[in-house]
Parts: sequence; C-alpha cells; structure tokens
Amino acid sequence: MELIALPAFADNYIWLMHKDRHALVVDPGDSAPVLAWMQSHPGVQLDTILVTHHHADHTGGLVELVERTGARVLGPAMEKMPVMSQGLGQGDVFDWHELTFEVHEVPGHTLGHIAFWTQAPGQDPVLFCGDTLFSGGCGRLFEGTPAQMLDSLDRLAALPGHTRVCCAHEYTLSNLKFALAVEPGNPALIAHMGLCTRLREQGLPTLPVALHTERAINPFLRSREPTVCSAVRLHNPQAVDEVSTFAVLRQWKNDFR
Ligand SMILES: [Zn+2]
Ligand SMILES: [Zn+2]
Repeated sequence: MELIALPAFADNYIWLMHKDRHALVVDPGDSAPVLAWMQSHPGVQLDTILVTHHHADHTGGLVELVERTGARVLGPAMEKMPVMSQGLGQGDVFDWHELTFEVHEVPGHTLGHIAFWTQAPGQDPVLFCGDTLFSGGCGRLFEGTPAQMLDSLDRLAALPGHTRVCCAHEYTLSNLKFALAVEPGNPALIAHMGLCTRLREQGLPTLPVALHTERAINPFLRSREPTVCSAVRLHNPQAVDEVSTFAVLRQWKNDFR
C-alpha cells in the first residue's frame, strides 16, 4: 500500500492510496493533480473517493473525477456533496480492497466533518482528518463550538500513537511558530520545528506525521498540560476550565501573527 500526498492549490494535499491496480483519493479539491497522477500510472483505476467535509477546496474536483472514472464517493452523511455519495457517520465501517476503514465524526471545523482511519497489514495505520487536526494545530471553528472541537481532537488523539496523520493542508511551520509561543521550552517541539524547517527547505511535505509526535508538540492536543494551561491563562485570564482554555487557545491562534 503506497501513500502519496498530491499537492493542490497553495497548500492543500490530496492524499492518494495506491494498491496494485486500484487507487483511492481523499478530498480532491481539484481534479487536475489526480488526473495527472492517473495519466502517469496507466492501468491504475481510481475506484473510491473519500470526502471529509463540504468545503470547496476538498470537493471541487468531485464532479469531473466521478464523470471520468465512475469512482464511488463516500462522504459525511450530514453535509451536502456536489455528487451522489454514500453518507457516513460515527462508527461506520467500509472496505476498500483488503482494507477496512473506520469513520469518526469530528465536528468543529464544520458540523458534519468526518475522519477516516485504517491500517494495512504490516504497516502503520493511517488517519485522514481533513481540516480537523493539523500538524501543530487544528482547524478553525467555522461551524462548531470549542467544546465540540476539543471532544473531536480528544477522540483522534486516542487513536494508536503510530498512526500516520494525513492532514489536508501544509500549515505546519506557521502552526509550530504559534506552538512555540505557547510552549517555548518544549524540547520535542523545538526538535520538530528543526526537522520541519529542513523538510520545507527541500520542498518536501511535513506530513504524514506520527500521532505520538502530535501529542508531544501540538498545543491543541495538549490544552490540559500545565505548561499550556498557564501560558493560555497568562494570555487571557478568562481561561478557567478545559473548554474555556481551549477556546482562548484557538482565539489566540486566530489573532497570532
Ligand atoms: Zn475546510
Ligand atoms: Zn481545507
């Protein structure tokens, strides 16, 4: 099982899984990078498309890809898709060749946002989390509440630590800059910033990233850590409990330059 990040737009990744003559893509906001990959891999059939949420940078390529390939589309039951799709929600499972995918509802960025988790035999598991969890950060709260997002991130963080986290955007360096403002003394974070800076200098993705790394560096997965709590409270004393701390942290990031 091969896992490939196809760059799209300024900072999106369309994740592609490739096994023998079959391919699957996640969140094709643009059909062009997918069609280009298919053209350079003749004989491979795109048979399945997964969608995490309704935003155009994740769904814009669906109509053309379905027209060209006839691929089935699986997306969130609670959100409107531009093509016919199978609607999925919490706890749903489905198979793609020998892989079984589990569906997690992760409201916050949008209300119907879902994430997909799977494990190929002999490989580390894979999580396609769209715009919910980013390396070093999390999605903006366009539709959901801080309490919903905190709960969604808690459930993603509880997945196996060796899970490869496949985020839909390359936001890592700017997220890590903010994370360092929150936790300037976190050695794992300092080391990860060094690694990701080198990767970006070479034009390489910082993703996928191991979930156990995210637990060590991502302030939005660490909002109950004493170091994060006290930094957040210092920034805004309205942070008095878990949810308000998370809400202040998210707002701090929105305002951070
Ligand atoms: Zn989005
Ligand atoms: Zn997006």
